[in-house]
Formats: sequence, structure tokens, C-alpha cells
Amino acid sequence: MITLFYKDNDMKKIKKRLKKTVDNKLQYERYKKRILSNLRKYDDPILLEVSRDVDFETDKIDDVLALMGRVLSFSKTGVGLAACQIGYNLNIALIQDGDNRLFMINPEIIKESEDKSTLREGCLSYPGLELPISRSEEITVKFFDEKGKEQTNEYRGLTARIIQHEIDHLKGACQLYSVWKDNNNK
Ligand SMILES: [Zn+2]
Repeated sequence: MITLFYKDNDMKKIKKRLKKTVDNKLQYERYKKRILSNLRKYDDPILLEVSRDVDFETDKIDDVLALMGRVLSFSKTGVGLAACQIGYNLNIALIQDGDNRLFMINPEIIKESEDKSTLREGCLSYPGLELPISRSEEITVKFFDEKGKEQTNEYRGLTARIIQHEIDHLKGACQLYSVWKDNNNK
């Protein structure tokens, strides 16, 4: 029953299809729980590591991409996910860009606007926490798509914010971690 869910942009369709592929609701719930159990949280060491670049010659990443897609589909509030958040030290980010999903492999911000805005952000690895974070309004990102094709695109607003959040993860530097740490070391 492995299909590459990340290629399908319609979340409702994804979930409906998943419900059909398992026998009943209970099994669906168990499956959902199992998929979501891949999420690394709080002070899991991998969240503090700097991820390495994907080597398209030697790294087999299809399963990682598929699992990232599923975890994001099952998460209630997620709009982005980094590979380290499901236990892979690889520079891969999944971005919810409006109705579309976008994989960014080995992403690099090559330009960022001085114009910034501040919004409260949450993170699947730090459930329940929020932090106002200042981010560039517009960024230019160089990355490889899931087919290994290099792309350079400009993003703005919420999409630019999500990308910056996920790239923080790839550097082992999610800003929510310090809030969690402060709350838990009192
Ligand atoms: Zn996050």
C-alpha cells in the first residue's frame, strides 16, 4: 500500500484514500498513531544536530519523502516538516505552500529581504508552545526538487516563513527549543 502521498496535494483525498486502504476506523487510528509516533520531540538529540546534504547518487530518499508526507498529512496543524523531525539527518524540508506541497532538498537561502515581520510560530516537535519570531518577508531559495532538479525560486509571506522555520531545523536550531528548555529547567 505504498503510494507516494506527497505527490497528491489534496489533503482530504489523501486521508480518504488512507481510510479506504485500511480495514476499519480502528485500524486507521492505529495506523495514524504509528505514523505520528515517528515525530521526534523536545530534546531528542537529532533535533539539535546539523543535517547533512542529500547525495542523489547514493542516498535513497523515496521512503523518507513518503513518510514525511504522511506525518504532515496526519498532523493536525503542521504546515512544514524537516527530515530530522522524523529521525533522518538529511537536508530535506517539506513545505505546505498554499494548496501545494513542495519538497526542498539541500535548500539554501541565497537572498533575504531586510523587510521583516513577526508572527507566532508553533512546531510539531514542541506541541503546545508558540513563540513570536521575526522573519524576512521575502527570500530566494536554491534547492533540488524530489526529482533531483535544481531550482531557484522566490517566496514571500507565510510560505517564506515556513521555509525559514524548516531551514532552522536543518541547522539544528529550532527557536522553539530554547522556550521548551526554559520551561522545563525551572
Ligand atoms: Zn518546527
